[in-house]
Amino acid sequence: MNKKYDTGLMWFRRDLRVVDNAALCMALKACRQLHCVFVFDTDILNALPRADRRVEFIQASLCELDTALRQLSGVPGAGLIVRHGAALEEVVTLAKTLQVQAVFAAHDYEPQARARDDQVLGALAQVGIALHTCKDHVVFEGREILTQTGSPYGVFTPYKNNWLATVTPQHLRTHETAPYASALMARPAGMQQPVPSLAEIGFEKTNLSSLKIPTGSSGGAQLFENFFERMDEYDDTRNFPAVKGPSYLGVHLRFGTVSIRQLVATALQRQIQGSLGAATWLAELIWRDFYFQILANFPRVAEGAYKPEYNAIQWEQGPRAEALFKAWCEGRTGFPLVDAAMAQINQTGYMHNRLRMVVGSFLVKDLGLDWRWGERYFAQHLNDFDLSANNGGWQWVSSSGCDAQPYFRIFNPVSQSEKFDAEGKFIRRYLPQLAQLSNKAIHAPWTAKPMELQMADVTLGGNYPAPVVAHDEARALTLLRYAVVKKTL
Ligand code: FAD
Repeated sequence: MNKKYDTGLMWFRRDLRVVDNAALCMALKACRQLHCVFVFDTDILNALPRADRRVEFIQASLCELDTALRQLSGVPGAGLIVRHGAALEEVVTLAKTLQVQAVFAAHDYEPQARARDDQVLGALAQVGIALHTCKDHVVFEGREILTQTGSPYGVFTPYKNNWLATVTPQHLRTHETAPYASALMARPAGMQQPVPSLAEIGFEKTNLSSLKIPTGSSGGAQLFENFFERMDEYDDTRNFPAVKGPSYLGVHLRFGTVSIRQLVATALQRQIQGSLGAATWLAELIWRDFYFQILANFPRVAEGAYKPEYNAIQWEQGPRAEALFKAWCEGRTGFPLVDAAMAQINQTGYMHNRLRMVVGSFLVKDLGLDWRWGERYFAQHLNDFDLSANNGGWQWVSSSGCDAQPYFRIFNPVSQSEKFDAEGKFIRRYLPQLAQLSNKAIHAPWTAKPMELQMADVTLGGNYPAPVVAHDEARALTLLRYAVVKKTL
């Protein structure tokens, strides 16, 4: 086969796998010899706390990637070169040192990543090195699915219908890497160090391993295998946080330790066989593509409302607002489902989708706080944090997003709790101090008789807070707050 380049460099970012990796496949096919690099980017890491589950997840996944590359290559000394520094400098310096003619990577759609990639492209071009990027992270990106008038979609259902009408086996084909693996070469003698430990990059261990969150491609495959058995029930189970309903694959999709094409191909096949669960799960994967294309086509959503008139809303400010926000973050609002959900994110870095909607709605429509405060908190704490889906989710709960919930639809945190955690199983797991309350009182302890509270060992304002707001009053205030939007509609 005629190769376009003698030597190339594959830059792994959020595609930490060798199987069905589009950029790696492109690089292997184009280069006679290929090196591989991952950069622990200090521009990102420096903003994080010293113990961060995502960093630990990446570090563990890189160890597996390094092993997989060595096995794939079969050449002594092959494997992953890992750098720690600003990505721009590290990639350009390494490309020059290795005397490559081209660097390869998968597309990233976040505004900061796009700006970084533009800079890398420019810096490489100055020294005569090409940068080739391709789609890997989504099935359809940017402007691939458009309305009949050629505009990006702002409403999900027609987007989904068009997505489903467009997808073919060709879009989901596996990007084979093994047949071209002979291009993977030994690392230069001075670059054969193992993947640095967390301590070597200035981080500490978290509770990731005690949470048994599996890492790397093997972890992604293990979770998917397990979910495959439950996929048919997804439609029935996905809304109940105490039930093992969803796939828990979010963090693997975030860092590319699973291939979106393989997940979609499996779900699609199962849907064709008549599985409602698979159809519903596939729709969630399409929501993921949907929000990626929103971010790519409307990067302004990273800063403000998708519907600009919602930027006129006046959110609560000042010491009381800050105290309410702190109570929300720490799971001390006095609304058990909200507090249990915040305990889940704080203790594990995961939060069930139903609960993301409940706590989001509570922050915005019960506490009257700016959705961007919640968005930022989730960005700091979610293992599966993804700017596009997180922003989409927060704009959905605040009603400012595309295809969002209407502003006058305000979740009642108690009815949500009664409906989706009827027996209080989830609440009891995360708020053991409420465990003895009845199935009725556990959703709203302030409605329980003093005797019941006493017998259950619950003291409101003592071992569990009294509610920080009255939902009905908060609801009325929210409708007033949102009136500014109604006027402009
Ligand atoms: P599953 O139910 O098994 O779904 C499979 C995958 O589909 C998910 O991993 C995810 O990639 C995708 N998906 C599911 N629901 C959505 C959705 N509504 N929008 C976009 N993609 C979806 N998802 C993130 O991946 N990162 C985030 O930062 C994020 N922040 C959110 C914030 C808010 C306020 C809300 C309401 C939702 C957010 N979501 C986010 C969407 C959803 O809650 C998570 O994707 C899901 O809970 C992850 O768990 P899972 O992998 O078990 O999901």
